[in-house]
Amino acid sequence: MKKILVTGGAGFLGSHLCDKLLATGNEVICLDNLYTGQKKNIYHNLDNPRFEFIRHDIVEPIRLEVDQIYNLACPASPVHYQNNPVGTTKTCVHGSINMLGLAKRAGARILQASTSEVYGDPEVHPQKEEYRGSVNPIGIRSCYDEGKRCAETLFFDYHRQHDLEIKVMRIFNTYGPRMHPDDGRVVSNFIMQALSGKDITIYGDGSQTRSFCFVDDLLDGMMKLMNSPTDFTGPVNVGNPGEFTIKELAEMVVEMTDSRSKISYQQLPQDDPMRRRPDISIAKEKLDWQPTIKLQEGLKKTIEYFKSL
Ligand code: NAD
Ligand code: UDP
Repeated sequence: MKKILVTGGAGFLGSHLCDKLLATGNEVICLDNLYTGQKKNIYHNLDNPRFEFIRHDIVEPIRLEVDQIYNLACPASPVHYQNNPVGTTKTCVHGSINMLGLAKRAGARILQASTSEVYGDPEVHPQKEEYRGSVNPIGIRSCYDEGKRCAETLFFDYHRQHDLEIKVMRIFNTYGPRMHPDDGRVVSNFIMQALSGKDITIYGDGSQTRSFCFVDDLLDGMMKLMNSPTDFTGPVNVGNPGEFTIKELAEMVVEMTDSRSKISYQQLPQDDPMRRRPDISIAKEKLDWQPTIKLQEGLKKTIEYFKSL
């Protein structure tokens, strides 16, 4: 049994991760400031003696004794990370420094939930880890993109300078139950719109692509990475290489929900990446990981969840 800290543990990915870590016999400290997370996501664990919730902002230091840290705290939806951009950069940078300091003091291994956004609007397709990205440093997405890039820098400097055991995972678009209905990301938006008969809001002409990974697959990869040999630090792409246009996604959701919603085309936000697909060769080789859940199958489970709300 390990004592494991999950920052951002009341969010979409973090709450599922807490469940999985508890199910494999660990003690879990879930730390979250509830900016985009919900207590509802963790209620079912509050009676578990191996589970503890701490309401805390990682921008402030905290002392804890733990064996492993999964650093997931950070709003992930463009709507929310752009709502308080300075706060987003602080969470990525000051938050990472605090969690890395905690890991150093406690002698813990630490995993960073990085993102495909470090590649920006990529000129290389599909994206391999060696690609250094094409990121606008002063745009509306920069607080998140540059924040996450700086977090990666800090992770590798703590590794080189202080011999810290680090793991850096570049997560590609992940979806599933427990996404907040008002999260603002494309899968939850389209499903909520389709179920309520509202217009499906496609930004731009819908020809931009994304590769969507179901949450269970993603977390399987995350836990494999955390428990991989010490000398494997990453960065490693984890995502589903199936690539779809946003228009294809909209049509699929409308069909699967039997919805009468119409498609409404709206302005494409600044710096919205045009193409995105992970090259997952390293995850396959080093972690023996690849996704198993197809988009249709994952969407079905996600639609059921939103129907049940
Ligand atoms: P989410 O918004 O549901 O979860 C983030 C959680 O972090 C929330 O519970 C929020 O309240 C908490 N949080 C935010 N700032 C905090 C702070 N300063 N201190 C403490 N807690 C804070 O998003 P998610 O999809 O679960 O994403 C989790 C992590 O994975 C994020 O770091 C995100 O950048 C990364 N990621 C996610 C995706 C994806 O597609 N889901 C893709 C790339 C990277
Ligand atoms: N998008 C859309 N309609 C929505 C929400 C998002 O067309 O209601 C588009 C968005 O412009 C982007 C893609 O869907 O091209 C994925 O957006 P999301 O916010 O989910 O994540 P991103 O990958 O851009 O961070």
